[in-house]
Amino acid sequence: MSETMTPETMTKAAVLILLGPPGAGKGTQARMLEERYGLVQLSTGDLLRAAVAAGTDAGRAAKSVMEAGGLVSDEIVLAILKDRMAEPDTAKGVILDGFPRTPGQAEALDALLAEQGLKISAAVSMEVDDAAMVTRVSGRYTCADCGEGYHDSFKQPAVDGCCDKCGGKAFKRRADDNAETVGARLTAYHASTAPLIAYYGQRGVLRKVDGMGAIDSIAADLGRIVDEVTA
Ligand code: ADP
Ligand code: ADP
Ligand code: ZN
Repeated sequence: MSETMTPETMTKAAVLILLGPPGAGKGTQARMLEERYGLVQLSTGDLLRAAVAAGTDAGRAAKSVMEAGGLVSDEIVLAILKDRMAEPDTAKGVILDGFPRTPGQAEALDALLAEQGLKISAAVSMEVDDAAMVTRVSGRYTCADCGEGYHDSFKQPAVDGCCDKCGGKAFKRRADDNAETVGARLTAYHASTAPLIAYYGQRGVLRKVDGMGAIDSIAADLGRIVDEVTA
């Protein structure tokens, strides 16, 4: 039995990929892994939303695609991802949340990691029922101050209207988290991202977790995988 790894006892920088459709729980689990293992969550969705809010060229190009539930071009996403990977905090290890999302992005990631002497520790497919994802995404909201994720039915703050993590009282919802756009996002997932499950299977790094259980039990399953691949 291996003991639970802590940032101090991890022997090499972990590169963990979370694969799953919108609403699978990637962001929720990535934040929990970040806290527990000191890894850095790298969400291309968050980075793109920040670019849209900042009104950069990339953000302007991405905005309408994101609102329609399509995929932003590999070129834009890769440029944003590379910039973020160049920041020193990522040396602790990263959890890629929402990236790669196309075979082109997966190949570019392989090249980027090879340059840095890193390799993928595990690509975890979060197995969920598509039909349940509409309810997951439609009920999603986050703390406007710290980004902690909540759900109208499945994850409410302990004190109504008050963030568990930071005590903040302002919350927000994403423009694309509506039932109409979720359909387009699920279609994009199956057309472009689901093939990556086989890609990582062939490379021997694929793991699967049941994403339909309780948040804490999924976190325990993921923790076992991280402990194993970083031992
Ligand atoms: P993703 O990043 O994969 O799109 P999120 O982590 O944002 O998904 O989760 C989508 C919504 O579902 C959020 O409102 C979150 O609180 C909720 N959620 C996450 N995991 C579960 C789960 N295992 N059971 C029920 N609801 C969940
Ligand atoms: P979710 O996990 O709920 O699908 P994300 O926050 O990961 O949401 O992504 C929101 C939107 O940002 C996507 O619908 C897509 O338009 C864009 N996006 C995020 N990551 C990528 C990526 N790796 N490649 C292309 N588009 C992306
Ligand atoms: Zn908060």
